[in-house]
Amino acid sequence: MNRRVLEILERNGIRITEVYYCPHNREDGCECIKPKPYFLREAAGRYGIDLSRSYVIGDHPHDVEFAENAGAKGIYVLTGHGGKHTAELKAEWPVAGNLLEAVEIICGTSESAVSTPREG
Ligand SMILES: [Zn+2]
Repeated sequence: MNRRVLEILERNGIRITEVYYCPHNREDGCECIKPKPYFLREAAGRYGIDLSRSYVIGDHPHDVEFAENAGAKGIYVLTGHGGKHTAELKAEWPVAGNLLEAVEIICGTSESAVSTPREG
């Protein structure tokens, strides 16, 4: 699955340096499952990434918490699972309608500003 996604991205000029994934279940009590910051810190150490200038875009509250726990910035998107968890969002979290809007928030070109209306 990852290989297929990487091939499609590469054909469109986007190169992903590395893919991290947690193979565990939440009950396993591992150190790498989101929202624990393990993989962000691992990538930051390996590639010299400044997490304070980095973003995590995700469709689950754990993705935004993952960012916060590592000192990065999180953006919640309403696509994918995003619509199911709107009641769990914190008021200060940026919310984007889709991936493009998340990019616009990062680039400072968002017209809908950082917060969009949400339920819950
Ligand atoms: Zn894990």
